[in-house]
Amino acid sequence: MDILTIENRKNSILIVDDENANLKVLTHILGKEYTIYTATSGKSAIEKAKEYKPDLILLDILMPEMDGYATLAELKKCENVRQTPVIFITGLDRDEDEEKGLSLEAADYITKPLRAMIVKLRVHNQMQIINQMHTIERLSMIDQLTNIPNRRSFDERLRLEWKLASREQTQISLLMMDIDNFKVVNDTYGHLQGDIVLQTVARIFPASFKRPSDFAARWGGEEFIVLLPNTPLEGALDVAEKIRKDIEGIEILYTDGSYIKITVSIGVCTQVPTIDSSLDAFLSNVDKALYKAKNEGRNRVEYFF
Ligand code: GH3
Ligand code: MG
Ligand code: MG
Repeated sequence: MDILTIENRKNSILIVDDENANLKVLTHILGKEYTIYTATSGKSAIEKAKEYKPDLILLDILMPEMDGYATLAELKKCENVRQTPVIFITGLDRDEDEEKGLSLEAADYITKPLRAMIVKLRVHNQMQIINQMHTIERLSMIDQLTNIPNRRSFDERLRLEWKLASREQTQISLLMMDIDNFKVVNDTYGHLQGDIVLQTVARIFPASFKRPSDFAARWGGEEFIVLLPNTPLEGALDVAEKIRKDIEGIEILYTDGSYIKITVSIGVCTQVPTIDSSLDAFLSNVDKALYKAKNEGRNRVEYFF
């Protein structure tokens, strides 16, 4: 899911119980507030958890074949599901049972017979923690000034796309962009106005992109980086040239009625990753292309080959 749109969706719960009557009751209690998925066995719970990536799992303990303890142990082994909190909902009400459940890292333990309000409140409490975690994750991936993905977020995406391109032997392109003479902008108009320029520049990316998989981030300072999966050099050069022109055309009104204009230099490189090609070298190549663009006069696009 897009890190910028995760905020307003309904939370989801996977309910696992071998008895349909229990699934019905729990769906009735929680269905208004949450998106509900159900499973009637441990095996199907694991499949559905992987497929739907619910925010929370409610798990029965006594089930034929694979019980709740074994199911939880399996869930903890699945890469994208490991972090998902699990609440045991069970008829086992001895202290030892509750102790065992919690020691297996279940987030909470609710005993049957089900009391609707207790279930609602415990699930609600857990969901608050989950949503706070999501917010922290989201904030840690976004650049505070420009509100676009930050370097950390870019690193993660690049690693993912690099693996994919390597597996499928497709071309992956990078653009590294640096604002020309930005120090002069700060010195002339002040640092706050410089910040506004950076925010304005960050806003042009969506308009310059042709595909939803294209990804731009603030690399640091006045540098931005763009990832274009499945894109050959000619395509990447087109995108870079469009960005360069779009930015050249921006006029930012200053308080004295004059307009601030800026230009950027962009380095481009393209590669089909192989077993022995390194991501660091790829990044270093795009940096070299940017350096070339600066050396050859700025406000231009250069590529590494
Ligand atoms: P060049 O064309 O060679 O890139 O010249 P330049 O002046 O853009 O490059 P230099 O690296 O000398 O200066 C970069 C400037 O960017 C200096 C720094 O203060 C400014 N800068 C970096 N981050 C920010 C920021 O978050 N806000 C503002 N306002 N300025 C920033
Ligand atoms: Mg710089
Ligand atoms: Mg610069």
